[in-house]
Amino acid sequence: MKTMNMKPFAVALLVSCAAQAAQFVEIDPLTTRWTFGAHEPYTMYRRVGNHCTGGIDGNAQWVKPWLDWWDEHAPEKMEELGLNFLHSRFYKGMGWEVEKKDFPGVQKFVRNCHKHGVKALAYVQFCTLYPEVMRAEIPDIDNWASIDFMGRKNLYGGYNGQYFRWAPCLTCKEWEEYTKRMCTIALTDGGFDGIMFDNVFDMPCYCDRCQKAFRAYLSKIKNPAERFGFDDLRYMLLPRLDMSRLRDMDVKDPVLQAWALWRCGLMNGLLMRLREHIKSVKADAIVSGNPTALARASLPPRRTWPSSARRSTSSSCSARTSRS
Ligand SMILES: [Zn+2]
Repeated sequence: MKTMNMKPFAVALLVSCAAQAAQFVEIDPLTTRWTFGAHEPYTMYRRVGNHCTGGIDGNAQWVKPWLDWWDEHAPEKMEELGLNFLHSRFYKGMGWEVEKKDFPGVQKFVRNCHKHGVKALAYVQFCTLYPEVMRAEIPDIDNWASIDFMGRKNLYGGYNGQYFRWAPCLTCKEWEEYTKRMCTIALTDGGFDGIMFDNVFDMPCYCDRCQKAFRAYLSKIKNPAERFGFDDLRYMLLPRLDMSRLRDMDVKDPVLQAWALWRCGLMNGLLMRLREHIKSVKADAIVSGNPTALARASLPPRRTWPSSARRSTSSSCSARTSRS
């Protein structure tokens, strides 16, 4: 960027903004030229069978040849255009036994990126389990899923979302460890420069594990009678409200408020543990994601990106369009 014609104030402001941005991201905002990578597997397009990511028709005969993204053409073109950053196909939530079939192509693509001065982040889907294929690898997959207050699996996209994609329960330690393992593979054998978590959403879960964890959180609140009216909170229930109602109401119910805080802490702790794991594998790895923040202070966090995680985690804003 040429600055010789810019007024000193504008230059100072630009530098100040860049310095501020640098507090939140581990990339140089002035030299980074990000572009949207092809992050979907062929299996995803075919399974959807309809228009989906990028406006691509999943049933189109040309999908497979169009997805020959692991050749050298794209990184070479990026270098020619001055682009130096992308996220790339790596893990879509189908289980590694299915997804590893693409891995040789993924590794080749990352090598090609580096050859042309392009940094590559591994796309890791945060909010999807594909039980139709993952069950073969994870027979206990039902225990990894998030449950709505009617006892149904929470689906990607809500109640009318994709029936073949379940949202994970954020208190499921097995899912967390599996996600960490995906990050390890990406940063070691995959050769990636960092991780891009897509769809960092928190759908309210009503499984027994979450109920127990919420009661454990409540048990640590001092003088509960002053806040909740009751001394004994051992049998409190997870608030059962349709999320569409919560968007338009003031949340003064103390249990709803406690539930919101607990869920913020849950997401915060999870993201920090993921970040710490990623950094333990590769100290200079970039950690980014596609979150949806709180709409207003009184709204329980349907989707959250806690500030303490944001301080040490970069959010790739352009990835906000990649909800798929
Ligand atoms: Zn749960």
